[in-house]
Amino acid sequence: MGLLDIVPAGVVTGKNLLKVFEYAREHNFAIPAINCTSTSTVNAALEAARDIKSPIIIQFSQGGAAYFAGKGLDNKNQEASIIGAVAGAQYVRAVAKAYGIPVIVHSDHCAKKLLPWFDGMLAADEQYYKAHGEPLFSSHMLDLSEETKEENIETCLKYLKRMAAIECWLEMEIGITGGEEDGVDNSGVDNSALYTQPEDIWDIQKAFSEVTDLFSIAAGFGNVHGVYAPGNVKLHPELLGKHQAYVVEQLKCENPKPVFFVFHGGSGSSEAEITEAVRNGVVKMNVDTDTQWAYWEGLRNYYEAKKGYLQTQVGNPEGEGKPNKKHYDPRVFIRECEKSMSKRVQQACDNLGNVDKL
Ligand SMILES: [Zn+2]
Repeated sequence: MGLLDIVPAGVVTGKNLLKVFEYAREHNFAIPAINCTSTSTVNAALEAARDIKSPIIIQFSQGGAAYFAGKGLDNKNQEASIIGAVAGAQYVRAVAKAYGIPVIVHSDHCAKKLLPWFDGMLAADEQYYKAHGEPLFSSHMLDLSEETKEENIETCLKYLKRMAAIECWLEMEIGITGGEEDGVDNSGVDNSALYTQPEDIWDIQKAFSEVTDLFSIAAGFGNVHGVYAPGNVKLHPELLGKHQAYVVEQLKCENPKPVFFVFHGGSGSSEAEITEAVRNGVVKMNVDTDTQWAYWEGLRNYYEAKKGYLQTQVGNPEGEGKPNKKHYDPRVFIRECEKSMSKRVQQACDNLGNVDKL
């Protein structure tokens, strides 16, 4: 039985989203979450997943969302980030079904200082729910890992209750993920603080489960955001297995993997590390840095190959009067970016076992 026997194509939310993650957990694969900043990058991700018959997660960061709306907009009080995220989600909704795959539309890291962004998106979800009986977004991520554990859980719970009412999924983060992304710099943090403890996971699982089962946990196990030189970081995906075992012991449940884990900061990790993380209940993995590189590489390779056709509007190696329009049409060179990015998205899917799942 494939995923499309369980959920419809298009954006999935609520119980259907839960079914998708349960299916992934049961079948030992994870779905990559691709950071998108434009309709071009959204399309590249959707096309990639469609061609390998798999579900995909489209996610917008606070900065990516502002970019989606246009860099010319002022982002005071997170206005551009709210408008851009909502526009992005609406765009994904408009096209997702045509690609014939289940699509999860998600917002990425939201730290405490960015909460107005979160509030704005949630207001749009509530409005959408009134009209359509489901939220606009499938899920949102709240990152209060910089705060104390108590404040983190308490604030998440406050939002979780509001989100449970509209069947919107919450992804939270506990433990510090190193590196720097969207302005949060943890590169100087002591290594021992990078690893989440099983008691922390249980505290979250217990408190959240009383409200809803629509949530997942991004637990630090040595992850680093952004790029880094290989060998600088020690990932311990086996810790996730220990967390699961600890929760199973508390719950006395039959399911060996009661917690939905999310893998952040996984750029550059080995296949073995990814496989072990997935085996231990990771159902979503963020992919950003590598697809950014792939998008750029598509343009670079195109330029290198067509250099002689891209210097003037008229005149190329074939003759002085030859027009170059078809070489500098954005549909041509941006398409090369998309094709290159799509390939990288498929590679991410492949690494996570997310191939041929429909
Ligand atoms: Zn994170």
